[in-house]
This record gives sequence, structure tokens and C-alpha cells, in this order.
Amino acid sequence: MVRAKPLRDNFGRLIDYMRISVTDRCNLRCTYCMPDGVQLVPAKQILTFEEIVDVCRAAAKLGIRKIKITGGEPLVRRGCPSLIGRIKEITGVEQVTLTTNGILLGEYLDALLDNGLDAVNISLDTLDADRYRKMTGCGELSFVLESLDRAVKSRLRVKINSVLQKGINDREWDDLAKLAQNRPVDVRFIEIMPIGCGKRYETVSGDEVLAALRGKYHATERELSVHGNGPAVYYRIPGFMGSIGFISAVHGKFCDSCNRIRMTAEGELKPCLCYGESIDMREILRSSISEEVRDDKVCEAICGAVRQKPAMHCFESKEQISEDRQMVQIGG
Ligand code: SF4
Ligand code: SF4
Repeated sequence: MVRAKPLRDNFGRLIDYMRISVTDRCNLRCTYCMPDGVQLVPAKQILTFEEIVDVCRAAAKLGIRKIKITGGEPLVRRGCPSLIGRIKEITGVEQVTLTTNGILLGEYLDALLDNGLDAVNISLDTLDADRYRKMTGCGELSFVLESLDRAVKSRLRVKINSVLQKGINDREWDDLAKLAQNRPVDVRFIEIMPIGCGKRYETVSGDEVLAALRGKYHATERELSVHGNGPAVYYRIPGFMGSIGFISAVHGKFCDSCNRIRMTAEGELKPCLCYGESIDMREILRSSISEEVRDDKVCEAICGAVRQKPAMHCFESKEQISEDRQMVQIGG
């Protein structure tokens, strides 16, 4: 296979990772995401699987190697596992992973494995069933824990994403970290980003959690191996099977090593999470032009999004953040 030349942005960063939202629907209503729901995009404006696969094919030709399927909650879209199987078949795609709230993961796990899913990220912010229900609007914690254990048993690579909120679940850092004690899973503490409803919350900084972790587990050590596609910084606690990671977008800006672009469920290609700019892929995909011209235009649009990538976000000065939608509408 002839490998594409690496795709680099104007700052020399290698862009080989694409996050694709397949739906703006979700079966939960998390307080920091969409407590009251959002205006849903009409179904016909959401990209079809065929269109998503076409974008992935073009992206792979250009050098995108890793694809993450996101939402909303991707598993509420019927056929999500088969989409993953189709993307896995694309030449050049080395890895397809999924991010989910875990409610439906147990139900679809076999289908996801049959379709070659490489890894899963499960969002889980509390181990208290009542708090889980309050934080997610309606969620049943036992479904997520069962999904987690089934996924671990299946030997799928699993990461847990936890968002700590001051005065709500921040005391649970140790219980959440301990999920990595007897399971080969990484637990990552993620700072809330000031996007959409996230602006209303004060995030718990990664440094605070790390200090608490070091206070309790004195031998905690920085780990240098790479665990995935993202910017997480990992630590090992002796005796734990998994690692503890920190994704500190606010207090530990990692834009220097940004490797990604993202596409919303409607087909807006976004150079950066923080800004409203996007390129309308749906318009290109649905225009009446020959397949060949359309494929060229899709490739041009992807290169355009990469060229438009900013040097960094501006989360520290909220008035400059031009993305005004909720995370669920953009793709988490
Ligand atoms: S944070 Fe994730 S699980 Fe929660 S409502 Fe938003 S999309 Fe759904
Ligand atoms: S905020 Fe923008 S530039 Fe920074 S890592 Fe995220 S997508 Fe990349």
C-alpha cells in the first residue's frame, strides 16, 4: 500500500486523527451538556452512513489513520456497529474507536467486536447510583457498570472518562481512580471545557486531582508510554492494573500537540473545538456533480479544515470562544 504523505497543518502539527459524530441524539441529559435537551437536527440533515464512509475514505487517502466515533450517544443510532465495520475496511484506517456513555454498550458489545472496534471510551462521572441519576438526568448506573465489566472481559481496550465537578462529585476521585485497580482500564480525569453548558461549571483542575492522588498513593509515577490518540498525561500507581490519566484542556493547554479535526453529525468539518468556523461537507456530498469531482472536493475541504486550524484554543478568555453550541451538537 502506498502511504499518503503525512497531513500537516500550518504549524507543522501532524493531523492523523478525526472525531466523527454520528448523531446529536443522546439517551442521557447530563447537567454539563444538555440538561434540557437541545434543538435536534432533522434526521435528513444528518449525514448518512454512506456519506460518512465517503468522508473517511477521503480522509484516509490524505493521511488520517485513526477515527473516533462520537455523538451525542453514537449507540442510539441504529447500525452504528456496522458503520464501524465499514470504516475499518478502508485502506489506510488503522484504528476505529468509540466514545459512549455506556448505557447501551453491553447490548451492542458483540456487534461492535464483530465489526472490529479497537477500543472504547466510557464516560462515567460517579459511582453513586442516585448521583448518577441526578447528573445524567435519567441514567441507570448499573447498566454502565455491567457494560464496563463485559467490555473488560471481552479484552477490548477500555478507558473511562470522568469529569469532576466542584461540590458535586469531586470527592469521588479516589473511588473512580480505583476502577483501574483491579481492571486493566485507564481512568482519565477530564477538565470541563467552557463550551455550551460547560461554561456554567467550575472545573476541578487536573493538578488538584493529581495532588490528591499523590497524597494518598505516594509512589505514583509519571508514565511516558503513549496510550492512544489523545493528549492525556498518564500516571501509574503501584499495584494498579490500569493507569490514571489527566486531560487538562483548560489548565494544561495541549494544543501544541493537536492531532485532530472533527466532523459534526450534520457534516460540518471543524478545524478546532473552540471556534465556530466549519466547512459544510454535506453541501459538497449532496451536490449534483460527478463522483470524481465530488471526491476531489471532499479532499480539498479536509485539507482546507487542516489549513484553518488555529494555533490554540482561547478557553481562558471566554468572550473569545466563538463556538456557541452545546458539546452534544458538536460531537464530544
Ligand atoms: S455528556 Fe454525553 S452522555 Fe451526557 S448528555 Fe451529553 S452526549 Fe449524552
Ligand atoms: S482546542 Fe483546538 S487546537 Fe487545541 S487541541 Fe483542541 S482542537 Fe486542537
